[in-house]
Order: sequence, then structure tokens, then C-alpha cells
Amino acid sequence: MSAVGVDVGGTFVKAVRLGSGREVVARTRRPTPEAPSEIIDVVEEVAAELGPGLPLGLGLAGLVDHDAGQLVWAPHLPGTSVDFRTPLAERLGVPVVVDNDANMAALAEHRLGAGQGSDHMLMITLGTGIGMGAILGGQIYRGRGHAGEVGHITIDTNGDACACGRKGCWETKVSGTRFGNDARSILGPDARAEDLVQAALEGNEEAREAINDAGEWLAVGLETLVLVFDPDVIVIGGAAAGAGDLLLDPVRRRLSETEGAGHRPLAKVVPSVLGPEAGAVGAAVAALEEAR
Ligand SMILES: [Zn+2]
Repeated sequence: MSAVGVDVGGTFVKAVRLGSGREVVARTRRPTPEAPSEIIDVVEEVAAELGPGLPLGLGLAGLVDHDAGQLVWAPHLPGTSVDFRTPLAERLGVPVVVDNDANMAALAEHRLGAGQGSDHMLMITLGTGIGMGAILGGQIYRGRGHAGEVGHITIDTNGDACACGRKGCWETKVSGTRFGNDARSILGPDARAEDLVQAALEGNEEAREAINDAGEWLAVGLETLVLVFDPDVIVIGGAAAGAGDLLLDPVRRRLSETEGAGHRPLAKVVPSVLGPEAGAVGAAVAALEEAR
């Protein structure tokens, strides 16, 4: 059985087709258009191109009503409560599954990547903000539908303003956006998060310090999540995860000091294996597992 997975991000619509061995056999991408109706057109186009007649999974960046197949709200998209599933299912004539992009990425890492074999896995993606997908007991944990908005956990009540209108949210301290800002201030106006990671790996002291500091803040938030969820594996995604141990060692150090840590096995803290394709791969996995 094959399936198509599509990940609609703020910049790109990425799509993959998974073969019967759950390997990526084809991929494509398009720039993300602005209007939801145009996004639906683009998803239809890439799905028809990669796998006509195959079940389709769709990951959306924002609050998603999984059962209704709707995008409830997204910071970078106009409109609210947009039904993605009905028009796509009608036009393509296939079953369609819709979920939050962080959930899709976590599903991919759990089934095919860094979280294989885990009983309770958290995936944290450092993008524009912080996304979390939780696979608890092997299933995506959604709460009433919108669990995992951990980027807005308050870390510092006197901290910087967050895009959400509050102060000192976790994602004001560590996110892909922060790595981008650090890259520009340390390396120059055109530098990106990937360049900061590269410079740090090559020994640039300022870049190493920036990544270490971000790792300390990553650890502060993860400590809370470990106390709440007691996961066995934590997967870190986003371009900054390419820094590997430089970013993750501060996390491992802090978690080894978390309450009760001496009496239970530490969660493994590992970088994403599937990288920027995790969302699209997970969407295809969801289509295989859920589509009816
Ligand atoms: Zn916030």
C-alpha cells in the first residue's frame, strides 16, 4: 500500500509518496500560496502528480480539528475553520486525513525515524516557534484537539514579548527564529540558522556560545515536559538540530539533574532523522494508518 503525504508550511508545500516499504519513492514541492483556497488547489495538484488514487495525508501548521478535517486557525493564514478534507476528498476521490504538522512529524519519527521502538515519545521542532508532537502509548496525543502548544509555556514572566501577545514564552528563548537572529548578528545579514550551525561545528566560538545558550533554554522547557510526560525518547527537529551534541548536551546535563532522575532511566535526547521531510512523511504514514 502506498500513500501521499503533504506538509503545508509557511513557506513551502512539501509532498512525498511513500512506497509499500514505507520508503520515499517520489517528492516535490511548491511555494505556499496565501489564500486557503489556493493552498487546496496546490495540494490537489501535488497529490495528483505524485500518486493519483492514493490515500492522502495533510499536515497543516496551525490549530487543526483532526476529526473535522479543518484548519481552525493559523498565524500565517487568513481565515478560520477552513475545511481542507471535504474538497480534497471530493476532487481527488481518495480518503484524506488532516492533522497538525507537528503531530505528523512526530508520527514519522516514531514509526520510521529516531523514535522507533519508543513507548512514549516527544518531538520538539524548532521552527518559527516551537512545535511539539507527542506519541504516547504509540498514539498521537491531541488532548481535545489542540495539545502540544508548548512554545507558549511561560518561562520568564519578565521576558521579551512573544508573537502571541504575552511575555517570556519558551519560544522567545529558543526557536528557529532565535537561531536565525543569532546567525545574522554573528555572521552577517544573509546568514541563516544552518550557517550558524555550520560555523559552530567548525569552531566559531561566538556561534558555539549562542547554540549552547539556546540549548540551556531548550533544557529549561524540556525539564518541565519530562516531569509531566516521563517520555523515553525526545526527538529534536529543525535546522538547529544539525548542531547535534552542541545543542543537546546542555539538555542531557539538565535532565540528568531533574527531580528523581537518579531513580529512573533518562530519556534519550536525539536529533531528528527525517529532517525537513518529517512532516510530509508523517502525513503519508497517517494516510496509511487512518485513511478509510
Ligand atoms: Zn507566546
